[in-house]
Amino acid sequence: MSPQILKIALDVPLNRLFDYLNNGFDVQIGSRAVVSFSGRNLVGVVVEIAQTSDITIDKLKPVIHVFDDVVFEAATFKLLKFCADYYHYPLGQTLISALPLRLRQIKPAVTRKSFIYALISETTLPEIPKRQVVLQRILNALQSGTLTEHQLADISAGWRKAITQLKELGCLQQTEVIAVKPSLRSSNIEPELNSEQQRAIQAILSGTDNFKPWLLHGITGSGKTEVYIQLLQRILAEKDAQALILVPEINLTPQLEARFRSRLSQYLLVTLHSNLSESERLQNWLAASTGAAKIVIGTRLSVFTPMPNLKVMIIDEEHDGSYKQQDGMRYHARDVAMVRAKQLGIPIVLGSATPSLETWYQAQKQQYGLLSLKARAVANAALPKIHCIDIAKSPTENGLSPLLIAAMRERLKRSEQSLLFINRRGYAPVMHCSACQWVAPCMRCSARLVVHLSQKRLKCHHCGYEQKIPLQCPSCGNPDLKPIGQATQRLQQTLTALFPDAKIARVDRDSMRSKDALTDLLTKVQNKEIDILIGTQMLAKGHDFPYLTLVGVIDIDTALFSSDFRASERLFSQLMQVSGRAGRAQIAGEVLIQTAFPQHILFDALKSQDYTTYAEELLNERAHMQFPPTSYFALLKAEASDFSQVSQFLNIAGNLARALSSEVTIYGPVRPQMERLQGMERGHLMLQAASRQALQRLLKNWMPQLRLEKLASKIRWALDIDPLEF
Ligand code: ADP
Ligand code: ZN
Ligand code: ZN
Repeated sequence: MSPQILKIALDVPLNRLFDYLNNGFDVQIGSRAVVSFSGRNLVGVVVEIAQTSDITIDKLKPVIHVFDDVVFEAATFKLLKFCADYYHYPLGQTLISALPLRLRQIKPAVTRKSFIYALISETTLPEIPKRQVVLQRILNALQSGTLTEHQLADISAGWRKAITQLKELGCLQQTEVIAVKPSLRSSNIEPELNSEQQRAIQAILSGTDNFKPWLLHGITGSGKTEVYIQLLQRILAEKDAQALILVPEINLTPQLEARFRSRLSQYLLVTLHSNLSESERLQNWLAASTGAAKIVIGTRLSVFTPMPNLKVMIIDEEHDGSYKQQDGMRYHARDVAMVRAKQLGIPIVLGSATPSLETWYQAQKQQYGLLSLKARAVANAALPKIHCIDIAKSPTENGLSPLLIAAMRERLKRSEQSLLFINRRGYAPVMHCSACQWVAPCMRCSARLVVHLSQKRLKCHHCGYEQKIPLQCPSCGNPDLKPIGQATQRLQQTLTALFPDAKIARVDRDSMRSKDALTDLLTKVQNKEIDILIGTQMLAKGHDFPYLTLVGVIDIDTALFSSDFRASERLFSQLMQVSGRAGRAQIAGEVLIQTAFPQHILFDALKSQDYTTYAEELLNERAHMQFPPTSYFALLKAEASDFSQVSQFLNIAGNLARALSSEVTIYGPVRPQMERLQGMERGHLMLQAASRQALQRLLKNWMPQLRLEKLASKIRWALDIDPLEF
């Protein structure tokens, strides 16, 4: 009998599989295997089991070990293969990076903590004698679903013995999970759905056996989360069904998790995000991939989590840029989720107040069903009143106009809360010499250093470089250097001086470093222990602030006229979100926006909370300029310490591409806005096509040619399909 050959994917930057001999292990596709690869032992994943190899048998090495777990079942495999193809990224690296770190390591992965229990499906249940009451009760409870140790203990203090008996009878499966930490309090009252919400749920439920994308469009507070929850209650009622909910950044939305936990408490819910320890991540991943966890809430990487009975996916805040991975395989989790839903034939719900233009375009073309929630869900909650303060006419002092200060004072008197939104952390964006106009630059990037006064340091927010604040101007010796402009810390200082009795809190990446900082702060806000919040977009996300009645918006004018084609889309979305913070409960809110361009059309749309008109406008603009979503882009990004190598490589690449296709237009080489980053000179080649297929046809032929180029192994380069910016 000829020996079995295993084709194994490894975490190496080569776009191929590697052949090894199986010496007697019980192997399946999706098994993890340890092999020796150029002198190191690596963990790989078995992709194919074959009888032949292009390499002569006696040159092949045997596998060292095969683990008895199958980490990817067929459906997840198919999804990851699709991604490796679509993003032109090596399959081995694609597969391995989708695994929890512990499963990429050679040592056995499992740490035991706590378990959940379920009946093995299709097992015949044992006859239990009537007098074994505890066993009876536990078996009955298990028949309606999975039980945690906690739930078992609620049934009977003698549960451990009963569980052991059931295990011995062979009808029980146990899965390890982490203990769920208590998060924010959340009510478990079930509101009656309004008619728009009911219609949305009915529409989605009308076709749960088929692929169908839905856009759930509604402003903050319109009841989208309520729709998700009641939809899951219906879909998860089917035995073994699982649901995956993607959120942009889980740490920013502790309230969402709390609501899901309290309202769907009968189902095991796990989270997957970067704030988990590696062992927590492993446990949760295993709970999802064995089917024990019925609900997974996770950030972008969790789109690849194997879930054997996935019946629905929800992408909350689908427009959010953090769904796009910016290094390695540059996937977009929303797009991957769409492919996954299609492969599985299940519904997928994209929720947003300000959908991405990509999604809106699909809804306009009726490729996605559009479900609109037009009213605010809570009775009497009025929309906020939005005004611009023209800072050309009414100048600001320390960044604040007298009108805004007066409005805040008014809130303090009424013991209501205010929020100041400024999208820049630190003390000031620039350190400036008034004698010679020097500004502190980052030596490694085309960027300025941001002043962090409390630490007496200047920091680059792009590469992490930092230095002490110089005592004098390095250019002319002037000792009088001044921070210019506004950022969160400086506003905090100004407000503390203006309102010495107010309780002021700042929310940005610097103040919220610890894991529970944001949750703690939100609790304080709920308890009215805070009067004024200063925050970056971290605060714009879906938090519920019942006593907040004023939102001030500061320093947004540069985004109005940015060269980034998505800047105004993003700004509109941030301002819609942040203005949605005001007046959610019974009190009407007010939003004051400081700008020198109050006539800008973006503010008109914002004042009437009219996403639709603004989206039309932007879509026309994009179509006119042949930008996404009406055309498709890929970027070849290259960088090296010497720009001439970059331009040489991109020129060769450009010529190759032009020779291959007339359907795709090639622009460049061009320099990106950030010409230099971390000491590397950067350049891009832009590829534009009218269809994804045309672009993919070119890439398929082009990439192998490119990899053979001499310079390709000398400089750093990467391909970004569907880039968010260029
Ligand atoms: P979104 O996710 O669109 O911001 P939520 O689902 O969080 O909206 O709803 C906003 C608030 O209104 C929440 O406090 C929620 O409990 C409440 N709510 C949602 N739907 C209803 C409803 N049909 N009746 C009463 N209250 C509701
Ligand atoms: Zn100077
Ligand atoms: Zn830098």
